Amino acid sequence: MTSQAASTITHVPLLDLQAQYAPIEADIRAAFETVLSEKQFIMGPQIEALEKEAAIYCQTKYTLGVSSGTDALVLALMAMNIGAGDEVITSPFTFFATAGSISRVGAKPVFVDIDPETFNIDASKIEAAITPNTKAIMPVHLFGQMADMDSIMAIAKAHNLYVIEDSAQSLGSEYKSKDGKTYRAGSMGDVGCFSFFPSKNLGCLGDGGLVSTNDPELYDKMNIMRVHGSKPKYYHHVVGGNFRLDTLQAAFLLVKLPLLEQQHRDRIENAAFYNQELADIADITLPAVKTPGRMIYNQYTLIAKDRDALHQALNEAKVGNAIYYPVPLHLQECFSDLGHKVGDFPISEQRVADVLSIPIYSELSQEQMGYVVDTIRKFYNA
Ligand SMILES: *Cc1c(COP(=O)(O)O)cnc(C)c1O
Repeated sequence: MTSQAASTITHVPLLDLQAQYAPIEADIRAAFETVLSEKQFIMGPQIEALEKEAAIYCQTKYTLGVSSGTDALVLALMAMNIGAGDEVITSPFTFFATAGSISRVGAKPVFVDIDPETFNIDASKIEAAITPNTKAIMPVHLFGQMADMDSIMAIAKAHNLYVIEDSAQSLGSEYKSKDGKTYRAGSMGDVGCFSFFPSKNLGCLGDGGLVSTNDPELYDKMNIMRVHGSKPKYYHHVVGGNFRLDTLQAAFLLVKLPLLEQQHRDRIENAAFYNQELADIADITLPAVKTPGRMIYNQYTLIAKDRDALHQALNEAKVGNAIYYPVPLHLQECFSDLGHKVGDFPISEQRVADVLSIPIYSELSQEQMGYVVDTIRKFYNA
């Protein structure tokens, strides 16, 4: 099917921050003016206001604004006292920060291969990776779809392990549990870690992140460790870091958070359009939504035959696209001391060779999506 209006489109970006900010620019500038006039640039009142709103949104007791999604992960690990000699189980098919944070606190990332369709950690393989040194499981809710949390929580409980949800791509994703309740990302594990990097579903104007938890002790610890472990000021019982979110970023996020639900709905609608328009192409596999609940499509990721050639064809047609991720983490040079080799996690290795993400952002027009679809159809002669 060819969209009639598609001919007027000549390019589609992977993400269009211009389109996202245009309707809210006046509100953003007003928020900026407020911060500028109050001059509480560090831990100003907007931080607490955001943390309250974010806790309601995440359906957790507490949240804390932090300096990035990466630092959210580091802070969670530090608050759990995870370090040298400890192991944390995670996915090799994710953004580097997931395993990088484990390594940075001195612990060892232990990889478990992924489900071939959801790209999330295969919970049925976790138990075999547990050793006496295992302290935590760090599932990643990749591309906006939550991992198999019922299974992961059951394993964690049986082995007395922490669960840190890398929810950097999944603020607002939902999981319908076997217990009949629906949980938001970051509310099932001990700590949820979020990113406000501009390409995430809720982006700020630079780096920013958030941790969520229902555990008052972990909350206290993260709260103190966020400011160098200082409590009261200049007295340090533990070593923390500077993991603060800027007041300015919190002020912007307070403007943007109320818009997030509509943006999720738009992304889900866009995904439905692609699902319909691309369904008959035998050479691609559409994103599989297998987790009961709500997938929020931080990315719309295809499994594509001749992926590299499709990548090139999309580039030539000026259709924004990206390969998330081109190298599985167990084969990254910096982790060579873990001793992994090609073949250790075959499903992740297959996926790095055949995945490709196409534009899914909420402001996409029908015509733009038509152009993306036409370009893909042309490539496959479909
Ligand atoms: C973006 C991302 C992070 C890191 O977030 P930053 O804010 O960029 O530090 C961690 N994990 C995953 C899965 C991510 O996508």
